Amino acid sequence: MYENVMKQFNHAADTMNLDKGIRKILASTNSEISVHFPVKMDDGSIEVFNGYRVQHNNALGPYKGGLRFHPAVDIDTARALAIWMTWKTALAGLPFGGGKGGVTIDPKKYSMGELERITRRFTYALGENIGPDVDIPAPDVNTNPQIMAWIADTFSSTKSPSTRMLNLHVVTGKPIGSGGLKGRDRATGYGVVSSIKYWAKLKGVNLQGKTFAVQGFGNVGYWASHFMMELGAKLIAVQDASGTIFNEEGIDAEALHNHVGNHNGVIKGFPDTQKIDNSEFYSINCDILIPAALSNQITIDNAAGVKAMLIAEGANGPIDTEGEKILLERGIDILPDILCNAGGVTGSYYEWLQNKRSENYNIDTVLKMIDEKLGEAFEKTVNSANKYNTDWRTGAYCVALERIQQTYKERGVFP
Ligand code: GLU
Repeated sequence: MYENVMKQFNHAADTMNLDKGIRKILASTNSEISVHFPVKMDDGSIEVFNGYRVQHNNALGPYKGGLRFHPAVDIDTARALAIWMTWKTALAGLPFGGGKGGVTIDPKKYSMGELERITRRFTYALGENIGPDVDIPAPDVNTNPQIMAWIADTFSSTKSPSTRMLNLHVVTGKPIGSGGLKGRDRATGYGVVSSIKYWAKLKGVNLQGKTFAVQGFGNVGYWASHFMMELGAKLIAVQDASGTIFNEEGIDAEALHNHVGNHNGVIKGFPDTQKIDNSEFYSINCDILIPAALSNQITIDNAAGVKAMLIAEGANGPIDTEGEKILLERGIDILPDILCNAGGVTGSYYEWLQNKRSENYNIDTVLKMIDEKLGEAFEKTVNSANKYNTDWRTGAYCVALERIQQTYKERGVFP
């Protein structure tokens, strides 16, 4: 992942001729926090966990980005994901920098009580490295509003009581009763579909009746499918860790969502669908592919088989640089992750703002604001790609790099 994000960065920096000094700053991370912390398990034993928070750059504002709970979390993963966040927030025009982190665990192996203690102790270990104007975590893979509520409570409870209410927005993606934003749950999936709508408008494509396939049926995959179906598009295949299901006549996203809720979070066993081999997923005959799970899914090994006309990156880094080259040569459009999945962090921005202002936005306002921000980012991406005669990912990177470069040029480098 790290290699991938650095290749993308270097290519964009060459394309827009990024200042040498700023290039050096952005090629490294500002700080990398690695913590080891003990937690008491339900049986009374003690386990020590590893947690990370990488803060890449904060030229535009506090570090911002998710925390994931996954066995593959390590400092390299956190570093790559933190760097992606810097580009994402810069492109979306938000007043944030980029950060990312997590704990190296498989959360399925722990009870609710253990997860709560792991979360609280991790928050405590991060100490003053996070804060509403310092670094603001959010949900990511395997983390959710409940986990955010525990972080907010732990962080604010360990500060002076008089500042308690000023500290709750140390995280976004909280439950509604704890200052959460109406619509934050669907913000990423909604944003994926907003980007697809802007693409369709640009290309003169009618989305009604178009077929699509989704990899990953968690929060992003489900909500993206929900909003695509609202537009009259047809979901024909879904893949997750338990396998791949297919039905040419269409798969009902709502029924599948209910099934997943009742079957340990997996799509396996969903009725009226055909089970197909996992390796066939990316060569399915459909119009739009939405990878909404893990990174490095489309590579040199399977890019030549892709039949879709558009790939909308719901996940971070689902296409590697070699895979992307093949797709671009074949004329397949790609909505890059830093644009396509920016609905989540844009929702987070409105949550942070509503907490700061002690306001409450209604869901229609939230979705409209996300749609508008993504529309602006889409337009800037396309214009930049045209200006530099390059692909959309590089175009999007150039917009982000130009914004950060301007800040450094205006403010200079201390001292
Ligand atoms: N984890 C999400 C992302 O990768 C959201 C981050 C946020 O809301 O801060 O963009």
